[in-house]
Order: sequence, then C-alpha cells, then structure tokens
Amino acid sequence: MTTLYTGIGELVTNDPSQGDGTALGVVTDGAVVVDGDRIAWVGQRAHAPDADSRVDLGDASVIPGFVDSHAHLVFAGERSAEFAARMSGQPYAAGGIATTVAATRAADDSTLDNGLERLTGELLRGGVTTFETKSGYGLTVADEARALRLARAFTDETTFLGAHVVPQEYRDDRDGYVDLVVGPMLEACAPLARWVDVFCDRGAFDVDEARTILAAGTAAGLVPRLHAGQLELGAGIQLAVELEAASVDHCTYASDADLEALAAAADTTVATLLPGAEFSTRATWPDARRFFDAGATVALATDCNPGSSFTSSMSFCIAVAVRDMYFTPAQALWSATAGGAAALRRDDVGVLAVGRRADFVALDAPSYVHLAYRPGVPLVRDVIANGVPLPGR
Ligand SMILES: [Zn+2]
Repeated sequence: MTTLYTGIGELVTNDPSQGDGTALGVVTDGAVVVDGDRIAWVGQRAHAPDADSRVDLGDASVIPGFVDSHAHLVFAGERSAEFAARMSGQPYAAGGIATTVAATRAADDSTLDNGLERLTGELLRGGVTTFETKSGYGLTVADEARALRLARAFTDETTFLGAHVVPQEYRDDRDGYVDLVVGPMLEACAPLARWVDVFCDRGAFDVDEARTILAAGTAAGLVPRLHAGQLELGAGIQLAVELEAASVDHCTYASDADLEALAAAADTTVATLLPGAEFSTRATWPDARRFFDAGATVALATDCNPGSSFTSSMSFCIAVAVRDMYFTPAQALWSATAGGAAALRRDDVGVLAVGRRADFVALDAPSYVHLAYRPGVPLVRDVIANGVPLPGR
C-alpha cells in the first residue's frame, strides 16, 4: 500500500543531494511517497510516481519528524512551586531532583505509566516522532529498573541514569552509592537500556565518578552519553569525547579546548544543546555560533523534566535556540531532526530519503522558518509517524 503526499510548497529533506543542495536539502513543490512505514520516493511533485492513494497537505511546509535525544519522562509529581521561587530570585541547584525522587519512589506503576503516556502524547502531537528517555528519579535498584521497564513500552531509546544525583540516604557515603550504581543497579538496568548517562556537574557527580560509571556501563554493553557543562566549566566534555560518548548534553559552559575536542570528534560525539534548561533556570545562554564555527555536530533536545525544563515542545526549543542561542533557523531545524538522530546514532530517522522511516510533519506555514518566526504558535498540523498519520488532526 503506497501513499503519495502532495501539497508541499516547501519540503525539507535533510538530504543535501536534494533540492537546493544545502544541508536541509529543501525541495520546492515537493512530494513524498510512503510505502508502509518507509519512504519510497522523495522529490519534486512534477516527477512523482503514482501511488495507491493520495493525500494533499494543502501547501504545507513539510519537515522530518523531530528527534528528541534528551528527555526525562519517568517521574511523579511536579515542581511548579520551585519554578516560581526560582523566577522570584532563587538560583537553580541540582538538589531539587530529590523532590522528584521522593514522589517517584512513592508512586505506583500506573501513576508513572500515565505520566509517560501524557508526555509522550505531547511529544508526538508536537511533531516529535523519535525520543529518548532516561531513568534517574528512582535511585534504588528496583526503582531504576522499574522506570526503564515502563519507558521501554514507549521507546527503544532508554537510558540508565542511576547517576543522576546521590540520593539523600547516601549523602555521607558517595562511594557506596557509586558502588551500588556500577554493581547491582547496573546489573538490573543494563538489559532494559541502550545507553548509560551521568549528570557530571556541580552538586551531582565529578569527572572521576563519571568515568567509573560510564566505563562500567560500557562493559555491561551500554553506550555512554553524558550531562556536562550545565552549571560550570569542567572536564566533562573532554571525558565524553575521550570515552567516545554518543552525545554530551547541555554544554552551556564549554571552553575553546572543549570545542576543539568536539570538532575533532564530530563524527562520534554530538554536542546537544538544551535551550529549555537555560530558559527555565534563567541561566546564561550558550552561543551556538562557537559550536558551528568550530565544526562540532550539534543537536537540540527538549530535556523535558519536571525540574529544569518542563517543556515537550521542540518548536519552542527551536524558537529559543534561534532567538537567544544564535542558531540560524536552518541550523536549529537540522539540529532538532538530523542532529538528534546523530546523537542517538540512528540512520533511519531525521532525514527524508528512500528507505528511511516515514516520519514527517506538515506545518501550517509556508516555511520551516515560521517555527522561530512565530514562536508559541501551534504550527504542527499533521504528524506522520512510521507511515501512519496521527489521528484526529
Ligand atoms: Zn537531562
């Protein structure tokens, strides 16, 4: 069963061999043929083959589905009071995570499952067709394994983040907690995860602890990624590059040497910037021009979590990235799609080309630039995920 999609005034493919030959591969008056869950043909409408059925998208701008490579979706409770306090002048500290840990431990499975369903629904309706999610609000063997088990019903991209913070009961025994993470917790969680991650920053884990945990995760068959450089300059970005992590996330603080290392590792380690976190913690914005000028590979992700970035909107992240982090609109869109795919080492998503997954979004706009030009406006009109249109739109 094939479907021909037309009515695409502007088609962003992320395939430089298409259209205008830029990184976005923009085709004017484009068309897409979908066969099952895959793309069978991409190009100009005038050259499109026929198909079993046809859908006219009504002069939309069509983009690849967003790939959100960094989210924390398994938790209970919310922290709006903390946000209000922060917006009233109190600084962000990693310790706020303990509030969510307590609520998550106390929650039953169905509460966590309902939360996952709600947030993944938000992501999908907002055009996110691939997403990652982490554990990290359980911080016991059973609670971390539970988080990953629940998350796996929603995505294959699950990340073991037992090293999110040191839980309160281990406050006077950090080494004991690291031993737990690399021992019984990793043993229980490794079969349920693809990735291992550490929050390597002030108030969380230092570089030596992160190295120990990521090495143990790698030995258990997981692939490393890392939170680093959110709160201060440190050695986390260099560690991520050294360990060939798929991604190092936040990079709010990055030295020139960090950028050189990221550029040299552009085919291995993606720098993932998370504008929702700077926005929601009123932090200093990183300047994306430094990353692009250096030659790093850059992704944009939501960092959706109840403490420091409670947004599931990639459109919002793109608007903020363009306005405040000096991405060009084209760089922001690429980073939120192909960049996210690179950060998850996926070659089946993030690009609209023959054989790739049929994941794309029709915007109620003549150009993808409207994602930044019309901030806060719900421009995502049609979402096609795995070749299937999202119902009710
Ligand atoms: Zn995070």
